[in-house]
Amino acid sequence: MGGFIVCKFGGSSVANAEQVEKVRTIVAEDEKRRCIVVSAPGKDRKDSEKVTDHLFNIATDGQHFRARGKAISARESYGQVLDKFRSLIAGLAIDGDDIIEGLQTDLASPITDRKRIDFFASRGEHYSAKVITRYFQSRGMNAELMLPEDIGFFVSDRFGNAKVLPASHTNLRESLKDGRISIIPGYYGMTLKGDIAVLSRGGSDLTGGEVAFAMDAARYENWTDTDGVFQVDPRIIPEASVIPVLTYKEIRLLSSKGFNVFHFDAMVSCKNKGIPINVRNTDNPAAPGTLIVESREPRETAIGIARMDGIAYVYIEKDMIGETIGFTKDLLDIFQDFGINTHHYPSDKDDIAVIVDQVDLRDKADDLKSTIVRGLSPDFLDIRYDLSLISPVGIGMKDTPGVLARASGALYEEHINIEIVDQGPSQMSFHFGIREKHADAGLKALFRALL
Ligand code: ASP
Repeated sequence: MGGFIVCKFGGSSVANAEQVEKVRTIVAEDEKRRCIVVSAPGKDRKDSEKVTDHLFNIATDGQHFRARGKAISARESYGQVLDKFRSLIAGLAIDGDDIIEGLQTDLASPITDRKRIDFFASRGEHYSAKVITRYFQSRGMNAELMLPEDIGFFVSDRFGNAKVLPASHTNLRESLKDGRISIIPGYYGMTLKGDIAVLSRGGSDLTGGEVAFAMDAARYENWTDTDGVFQVDPRIIPEASVIPVLTYKEIRLLSSKGFNVFHFDAMVSCKNKGIPINVRNTDNPAAPGTLIVESREPRETAIGIARMDGIAYVYIEKDMIGETIGFTKDLLDIFQDFGINTHHYPSDKDDIAVIVDQVDLRDKADDLKSTIVRGLSPDFLDIRYDLSLISPVGIGMKDTPGVLARASGALYEEHINIEIVDQGPSQMSFHFGIREKHADAGLKALFRALL
């Protein structure tokens, strides 16, 4: 096996007939593009929501959008999903009555509880793959549908956040036929008991990574709607350019801090086999995109700057923290008990801050505080909200003097106070916590100083 390319096309790449034709052209251009993982149709100009969200809404009888303050009923969602697939089928000029009938039957399924949600949510990818396979065939391509439920793409039974089981790799390898293009729906698999379960949101990236791993692919192409991974968010800094090459470690640091181009867990399986990942733009296939590899020679110091808003920190003062064995452990245990993920914990002799996403404190802040007071008797305790973490990243920063000086100097020039600073021990990243209202200005200043 090996030598061929696994491609994943995201929701925007399959949002309408025009986009699907772009996908076909890309696949046809290189005969090594043999495994094609597809998302559910995303939003195009006319849509306010993605098909997957409509499917969640149907499964939950309108609760999905209600919880997000949106007045879209399950009935409307049903209409939108059917319209979307009908217009794809019409736009691609394929025969698809049976596909629509299948969809209607599935959406009338009496299945209940959490299994219902996962089954419905998976139908976007399922029918997207069916439509695309039929279209490829209608254009004379030797394409074949490879459904997770048929080939044994097994996942754990953690509904809504299922994990791919190793048996899937063998089954994928054995199902691939010589000379054919396999079309595989992303985002879902089958449990060992035969139920459909979905991976986490954005999970088609994960399917793509697993397929690349299973097939020992020469490359995993992740086709999306941007020219690659940008140095910083181009909506804030339009001069930002695409990063040509990044290491797995760098993309992980960038994507875990708000770079939303790529599901960062998807990288793990590729990293284990050293399979390069290429983030590409379906709307601009001539652009080389961003290549993500094991190692590279840095010519620069920082390569990108990530930003994460909505950050809070729990600040604690207590005499002798620095000398009290186990204090940090006891504190972090409390966060674990509350199910709150902690990002960083800068500390000093007599104080410590635990940095978290402020949404994770919602409804929990008072209880958390009183548990800390009861368990650790701090001299002072406070929660500070509305921070942004701005994080320059790059392997070139390691052993390079003056990067932090340049970065903090740039913020000083803008009169921006740094509330928190924490450098990763790998020296490939550091994090400034500044007030969210200064985040745009801070990002611009750091962009000018470091990139
Ligand atoms: N359709 C799924 C979602 O919207 C998975 C994906 O597109 O990757 O999350």
